[in-house]
Amino acid sequence: MNPFSYARPTRIDEAISLFQPDSRYIAGGTNLLDLMKENVVRPAQLIDITRLPLQGIEETAEGGLRIGALVSNSDLAWHPLVERHYPLLAQAILAGASAQLRNMASTGGNLLQRTRCYYFYDSTTACNKREPGTGCPARSGLNRIHAILGHSDACIAVHPSDMCVAMAALDAVVHVQGPQGERQIAFNDFHRLPGEKPERDNNLTDGELITAVELPASGFAEHSAYLKVRDRASYAFALVSVAAALKLDGGTISAARIALGGVAHKPWRRAEAEAALVGQSAGDAAFNAAADVLLQGASGFEHNTFKIDLARRAIVRALTDAAKGVAP
Ligand code: SF4
Repeated sequence: MNPFSYARPTRIDEAISLFQPDSRYIAGGTNLLDLMKENVVRPAQLIDITRLPLQGIEETAEGGLRIGALVSNSDLAWHPLVERHYPLLAQAILAGASAQLRNMASTGGNLLQRTRCYYFYDSTTACNKREPGTGCPARSGLNRIHAILGHSDACIAVHPSDMCVAMAALDAVVHVQGPQGERQIAFNDFHRLPGEKPERDNNLTDGELITAVELPASGFAEHSAYLKVRDRASYAFALVSVAAALKLDGGTISAARIALGGVAHKPWRRAEAEAALVGQSAGDAAFNAAADVLLQGASGFEHNTFKIDLARRAIVRALTDAAKGVAP
């Protein structure tokens, strides 16, 4: 590991003013410390944000929930308001990592965790995300866990989070503060596709700090389901995951949300797939049609083409579970 300096401010403005281009904010450190030990990132300064006033889960005036960036994944998943009003989010968080990691990992850090592409973590290989312009060995190498949607010539990595898939489906909003002040980013605009700049995972600018994530009032509590398909029953990243949420009027769908994990550089949503469900009878025909729209343009590589069919079946299964109102 390379030498670095360490600061532990107690005010948000102090933390932001300390930030330099080669700084990193650190909270639970469950991903960043691994990246530093593997020589993937080499910050000159760590700014420990754990003393900042970014804790707490509060109801908003609009009936939603504001989640402080430092709330641990465990505290969020088991919070009574989340269990009652946002079971989709609780299920997604509990499908991720291990209990020990969830105790350390923060809400803000979960959004910022980096891909688990094998080559990204191996600093002896080329990787456009780690060292821009060096190439993408995953395209012709081992790519079983890689993207089937939204990938580019430069990078075919996927975002690894479960929590973010549920937050995308729930239309969360990310609150950030930086040198230019405060702003809010719609969750679907927070992460980005790799394009020609795979080194950038998200649309934060230098020094911006996530302060909170806000959920709208509607949590689709009666009809939602998170389905994660993976190689092991626990402590494994998703090959494909689905956050499905429906509002039903009798047997007819009046609102729908579907987000996919494990298939793209960001949680994958397509408004046309959700619109196609509205007004339809909740059942296989509508769910299969929505899956077709959501997966339009999907293409795989040597080892991961199976994910396209897997995703189609997972979408139908998750929507079926959501319609029944049962957890998978
Ligand atoms: Fe690097 Fe992305 Fe290629 Fe993986 S898929 S080797 S992260 S450029």
